[in-house]
Amino acid sequence: MKSRHTWLNRVPVTAVSATALVALAAPAEASPASAAPASAPASAASTQLFPAPAAAAPAAAASSTAAAVDYETWQRDCQAVMDKALPYLQERIAQGKPGEKQAIVLDIDNTALETDFGFSFPQPANKPVRKVAQYAEERGVDLFFVTARPDIIHAPTAWNLDQAGYESSGLYVRGFLDLFKDVAEYKTAQRIDIERKGYTIIANIGNSATDLSGGHAEKTFKLPDYDGQLS
Ligand SMILES: [Mg+2]
Repeated sequence: MKSRHTWLNRVPVTAVSATALVALAAPAEASPASAAPASAPASAASTQLFPAPAAAAPAAAASSTAAAVDYETWQRDCQAVMDKALPYLQERIAQGKPGEKQAIVLDIDNTALETDFGFSFPQPANKPVRKVAQYAEERGVDLFFVTARPDIIHAPTAWNLDQAGYESSGLYVRGFLDLFKDVAEYKTAQRIDIERKGYTIIANIGNSATDLSGGHAEKTFKLPDYDGQLS
């Protein structure tokens, strides 16, 4: 059974994920041609490329609280939400007016990708979400990813989304000054930016309240974060 790597609060998770991804960012950016084949076993990549984060993980785990959910429960809970999203999207996409550019906004950590369950790079897709996203994308809906991840891991995050099977039309990460802003306000501002590009955001999918507050989406779908325990 797959168990969640550790119950970390938002800051340590982001820090550990960022450290690992930054360690991989240099090779990914320096040699994009060789990055694709690097979908080689993640375990090999971990041992060769980021020994430091691997050592950091147990330290972070030591500060974690007891696990409150297992992988199967999380997947079942995500599927239940996507079971409501799919019929809505089927209907809404079909109702698209001529010239309407439909978009879906997705959070990344524990929404588009499995972040807190296992520790690998690339991180696998959260399958119930990917299935719905792919359904929409295949019908002309553009997918935008709005994450609190910092700009320094933009390239590996974009590559990860691609590896996980997402067709991204835009990835919004936090620039340096954004790191000092309220996350909900930052994310809302990115949705406004997407609307300014002429899109109608028909759905916003995330697992944290800060992913979904602030409007600028016709409908929101809240995945579980179990009282803030999943980033
Ligand atoms: Mg999240």
